[in-house]
Amino acid sequence: MKQDGFEWEFDPSFCEECGGKCCTGESGYIWIDEGESRLLAEHLGLNEDEFKEKFLIKVGKKFSIKEKSHEDGYACVFFDEINKNCSIYEFRPSQCRSFPFWDYFRKNLRELERECIGVKFL
Ligand code: SF4
Repeated sequence: MKQDGFEWEFDPSFCEECGGKCCTGESGYIWIDEGESRLLAEHLGLNEDEFKEKFLIKVGKKFSIKEKSHEDGYACVFFDEINKNCSIYEFRPSQCRSFPFWDYFRKNLRELERECIGVKFL
């Protein structure tokens, strides 16, 4: 998988072997927009207020998915610690869908290398 303007490609067949480093580790924001929240809330059988209360934190005007303790750090609250994958994969927000093609990684290639064994630099 390639994306214009990025000097790496991504092979998602490594995700199973990796065990979810992109969903775990240091604490960070997992942004989710209103449309994504609505769909995920519906999928989970919750109304939007219940969903936000239970699973999101408000950061300024935006929302981020809550985290939980995991090993020596944190994991997204939707990270399945037994199966080592995303429990809401079809409903994950665009931030997760666009990984590892983030502008942030352009200046943090070492971090990307550590975080994702599915990345190959071109
Ligand atoms: S929503 Fe899913 S893919 Fe995104 S960080 Fe959470 S567990 Fe990972």
